[in-house]
Amino acid sequence: MSINRIFQFGAINAYLVQEDDGLTLVDTLMKGGHKRILAAAEMLGAPIVRIALTHAHGDHIGSLDKLAAALPGVEVLISGRDARLLVKDRTMDPGEPAAKLRGGYPGARTAPTATFGAGDRIGSLEVHAAPGHTPGQVAFLDPRDGTLYCADSYSTLGGMATSAKPNPRFPLVALATWHRPTALASARAMRALDPARLAPGHGRVVEAPGAEMDRAIARGA
Ligand SMILES: [Zn+2]
Repeated sequence: MSINRIFQFGAINAYLVQEDDGLTLVDTLMKGGHKRILAAAEMLGAPIVRIALTHAHGDHIGSLDKLAAALPGVEVLISGRDARLLVKDRTMDPGEPAAKLRGGYPGARTAPTATFGAGDRIGSLEVHAAPGHTPGQVAFLDPRDGTLYCADSYSTLGGMATSAKPNPRFPLVALATWHRPTALASARAMRALDPARLAPGHGRVVEAPGAEMDRAIARGA
Protein backbone atom coordinates (compact mmCIF):
# COMPACT_ATOMS: atom_id res chain seq x y z
CA MET A 1 0.00 0.00 0.00
CA SER A 2 1.11 3.54 -0.51
CA ILE A 3 1.62 5.70 2.51
CA ASN A 4 -0.16 9.03 2.91
CA ARG A 5 1.92 11.37 5.01
CA ILE A 6 0.80 14.93 5.70
CA PHE A 7 3.39 17.18 7.21
CA GLN A 8 3.52 20.57 8.83
CA PHE A 9 6.49 22.92 9.30
CA GLY A 10 8.59 20.18 7.65
CA ALA A 11 8.75 18.49 11.03
CA ILE A 12 5.41 17.14 12.22
CA ASN A 13 3.55 14.23 10.61
CA ALA A 14 0.01 12.92 10.41
CA TYR A 15 -1.07 9.98 8.26
CA LEU A 16 -4.19 8.89 6.40
CA VAL A 17 -4.73 5.13 6.34
CA GLN A 18 -7.13 3.68 3.77
CA GLU A 19 -9.84 1.31 4.96
CA ASP A 20 -12.89 -0.16 3.27
CA ASP A 21 -15.18 2.27 5.07
CA GLY A 22 -13.07 5.41 4.58
CA LEU A 23 -9.91 6.86 6.09
CA THR A 24 -8.33 6.60 9.52
CA LEU A 25 -6.37 9.71 10.42
CA VAL A 26 -3.37 9.00 12.65
CA ASP A 27 -2.70 12.21 14.65
CA THR A 28 -3.78 15.73 13.76
CA LEU A 29 -0.67 17.97 13.55
CA MET A 30 -0.45 21.21 15.54
CA LYS A 31 -3.15 23.84 15.63
CA GLY A 32 -3.83 25.07 12.11
CA GLY A 33 -3.12 21.72 10.45
CA HIS A 34 -6.73 20.78 9.80
CA LYS A 35 -6.94 22.41 6.37
CA ARG A 36 -4.11 20.43 4.88
CA ILE A 37 -5.46 17.21 6.41
CA LEU A 38 -8.93 17.78 4.97
CA ALA A 39 -7.39 18.66 1.59
CA ALA A 40 -5.35 15.45 1.62
CA ALA A 41 -8.44 13.37 2.37
CA GLU A 42 -10.24 15.08 -0.50
CA MET A 43 -7.37 14.19 -2.84
CA LEU A 44 -7.75 10.55 -1.77
CA GLY A 45 -11.48 10.78 -2.45
CA ALA A 46 -12.61 9.22 0.80
CA PRO A 47 -14.05 10.53 4.06
CA ILE A 48 -12.13 10.56 7.35
CA VAL A 49 -14.26 8.24 9.50
CA ARG A 50 -11.99 7.99 12.52
CA ILE A 51 -9.17 9.87 14.21
CA ALA A 52 -6.70 7.68 16.10
CA LEU A 53 -4.34 9.62 18.36
CA THR A 54 -0.95 8.17 19.31
CA HIS A 55 -0.52 10.43 22.33
CA ALA A 56 -1.74 13.67 23.87
CA HIS A 57 1.12 16.08 23.01
CA GLY A 58 0.06 19.32 21.31
CA ASP A 59 1.82 18.58 18.04
CA HIS A 60 -0.31 15.44 17.65
CA ILE A 61 -3.70 16.63 18.95
CA GLY A 62 -3.50 20.34 18.05
CA SER A 63 -6.02 20.28 15.20
CA LEU A 64 -8.39 17.78 16.82
CA ASP A 65 -11.10 20.28 17.74
CA LYS A 66 -11.17 21.85 14.27
CA LEU A 67 -11.31 18.43 12.60
CA ALA A 68 -14.04 17.14 14.90
CA ALA A 69 -16.09 20.24 14.05
CA ALA A 70 -15.53 19.70 10.31
CA LEU A 71 -16.27 15.96 10.44
CA PRO A 72 -19.57 15.39 12.21
CA GLY A 73 -19.88 11.84 13.50
CA VAL A 74 -16.15 11.11 13.28
CA GLU A 75 -14.84 8.60 15.83
CA VAL A 76 -12.12 9.99 18.10
CA LEU A 77 -9.89 7.40 19.73
CA ILE A 78 -6.97 7.59 22.17
CA SER A 79 -5.49 5.31 24.81
CA GLY A 80 -7.28 5.29 28.14
CA ARG A 81 -4.11 6.57 29.80
CA ASP A 82 -3.48 9.54 27.51
CA ALA A 83 -7.22 10.36 27.48
CA ARG A 84 -6.60 11.81 30.95
CA LEU A 85 -3.88 14.05 29.58
CA LEU A 86 -6.29 15.17 26.87
CA VAL A 87 -8.32 16.77 29.67
CA LYS A 88 -5.09 18.01 31.31
CA ASP A 89 -5.30 15.56 34.21
CA ARG A 90 -1.61 15.24 35.08
CA THR A 91 -1.99 12.83 38.00
CA MET A 92 0.07 9.67 37.80
CA ASP A 93 -1.18 6.10 38.00
CA PRO A 94 -0.11 4.01 40.99
CA GLY A 95 3.06 2.14 40.06
CA GLU A 96 4.14 4.54 37.32
CA PRO A 97 7.70 5.90 37.48
CA ALA A 98 7.84 9.16 39.41
CA ALA A 99 9.08 11.23 36.48
CA LYS A 100 8.09 14.69 35.33
CA LEU A 101 5.64 14.98 32.43
CA ARG A 102 7.43 16.91 29.69
CA GLY A 103 6.33 18.58 26.50
CA GLY A 104 3.09 20.43 25.84
CA TYR A 105 -0.27 19.00 26.88
CA PRO A 106 -2.69 21.72 25.75
CA GLY A 107 -5.75 19.46 26.04
CA ALA A 108 -8.75 19.50 23.72
CA ARG A 109 -12.42 20.33 24.02
CA THR A 110 -13.30 17.28 21.93
CA ALA A 111 -13.90 14.19 24.04
CA PRO A 112 -12.86 10.81 22.71
CA THR A 113 -15.79 8.70 21.49
CA ALA A 114 -13.93 5.65 22.85
CA THR A 115 -10.59 4.72 24.34
CA PHE A 116 -8.38 1.77 23.43
CA GLY A 117 -5.59 -0.30 24.88
CA ALA A 118 -2.85 -2.61 23.64
CA GLY A 119 -4.26 -5.54 21.71
CA ASP A 120 -7.25 -3.63 20.37
CA ARG A 121 -7.84 -3.07 16.68
CA ILE A 122 -8.84 0.16 14.97
CA GLY A 123 -9.98 -0.77 11.49
CA SER A 124 -7.04 -2.79 10.19
CA LEU A 125 -4.59 -1.28 12.65
CA GLU A 126 -3.28 -3.20 15.65
CA VAL A 127 -2.70 -1.14 18.79
CA HIS A 128 0.69 -1.66 20.46
CA ALA A 129 1.68 -0.02 23.74
CA ALA A 130 4.67 2.30 23.32
CA PRO A 131 4.88 4.19 26.64
CA GLY A 132 7.80 6.30 27.76
CA HIS A 133 7.54 9.39 25.57
CA THR A 134 4.17 9.85 27.28
CA PRO A 135 2.66 7.41 29.80
CA GLY A 136 0.01 6.16 27.37
CA GLN A 137 1.61 6.49 23.95
CA VAL A 138 0.74 3.78 21.43
CA ALA A 139 1.92 2.72 18.00
CA PHE A 140 -0.29 1.31 15.23
CA LEU A 141 0.82 -1.62 13.09
CA ASP A 142 -0.89 -2.18 9.74
CA PRO A 143 -0.56 -5.94 9.16
CA ARG A 144 -1.60 -5.50 5.51
CA ASP A 145 1.77 -4.02 4.59
CA GLY A 146 3.88 -4.02 7.76
CA THR A 147 3.78 -0.25 8.24
CA LEU A 148 4.38 0.73 11.86
CA TYR A 149 2.99 4.15 12.76
CA CYS A 150 5.41 4.41 15.65
CA ALA A 151 4.44 7.84 17.03
CA ASP A 152 7.40 9.37 18.88
CA SER A 153 9.00 6.08 19.93
CA TYR A 154 11.38 6.85 17.05
CA SER A 155 12.06 10.08 15.20
CA THR A 156 13.82 10.17 11.84
CA LEU A 157 14.36 13.92 11.65
CA GLY A 158 18.13 14.50 11.66
CA GLY A 159 18.68 10.72 11.54
CA MET A 160 16.86 7.87 13.24
CA ALA A 161 16.76 8.12 17.02
CA THR A 162 14.76 6.74 19.91
CA SER A 163 13.19 9.19 22.35
CA ALA A 164 15.43 7.81 25.12
CA LYS A 165 18.37 10.14 24.38
CA PRO A 166 18.41 13.56 22.70
CA ASN A 167 19.54 13.47 19.07
CA PRO A 168 21.76 16.58 18.81
CA ARG A 169 20.27 17.32 15.37
CA PHE A 170 16.63 17.11 16.59
CA PRO A 171 16.52 16.90 20.39
CA LEU A 172 12.90 17.98 20.85
CA VAL A 173 11.36 14.50 20.94
CA ALA A 174 13.67 13.25 23.69
CA LEU A 175 13.41 16.53 25.61
CA ALA A 176 9.60 16.12 25.62
CA THR A 177 9.89 12.53 26.87
CA TRP A 178 8.45 11.57 30.24
CA HIS A 179 10.54 8.52 31.21
CA ARG A 180 13.56 7.55 29.14
CA PRO A 181 14.15 3.96 30.40
CA THR A 182 10.52 3.15 29.54
CA ALA A 183 10.98 4.85 26.17
CA LEU A 184 14.01 2.68 25.44
CA ALA A 185 12.08 -0.47 26.37
CA SER A 186 9.32 0.61 23.99
CA ALA A 187 11.84 1.27 21.21
CA ARG A 188 13.00 -2.33 21.64
CA ALA A 189 9.40 -3.58 21.61
CA MET A 190 8.78 -1.70 18.35
CA ARG A 191 11.89 -3.26 16.83
CA ALA A 192 10.65 -6.70 17.88
CA LEU A 193 7.55 -6.14 15.73
CA ASP A 194 9.96 -6.21 12.76
CA PRO A 195 8.13 -3.55 10.73
CA ALA A 196 8.54 -3.37 6.96
CA ARG A 197 8.19 0.40 7.09
CA LEU A 198 8.50 2.95 9.88
CA ALA A 199 6.20 5.97 9.85
CA PRO A 200 7.21 8.27 12.72
CA GLY A 201 5.66 11.38 14.18
CA HIS A 202 8.64 13.47 13.08
CA GLY A 203 10.78 12.97 9.98
CA ARG A 204 10.70 10.85 6.86
CA VAL A 205 9.16 7.43 6.38
CA VAL A 206 11.81 4.68 6.32
CA GLU A 207 11.47 1.41 4.36
CA ALA A 208 13.09 -1.74 5.79
CA PRO A 209 14.06 0.16 8.96
CA GLY A 210 15.42 -2.76 11.04
CA ALA A 211 19.14 -1.99 10.85
CA GLU A 212 18.60 1.73 11.48
CA MET A 213 16.37 0.92 14.45
CA ASP A 214 19.09 -1.35 15.86
CA ARG A 215 21.65 1.45 15.61
CA ALA A 216 19.24 3.94 17.20
CA ILE A 217 18.61 1.56 20.12
CA ALA A 218 22.37 1.11 20.58
CA ARG A 219 22.88 4.90 20.62
CA GLY A 220 19.94 5.41 22.98
CA ALA A 221 21.05 2.83 25.52
ZN1 LIG B 1 5.20 13.78 21.45
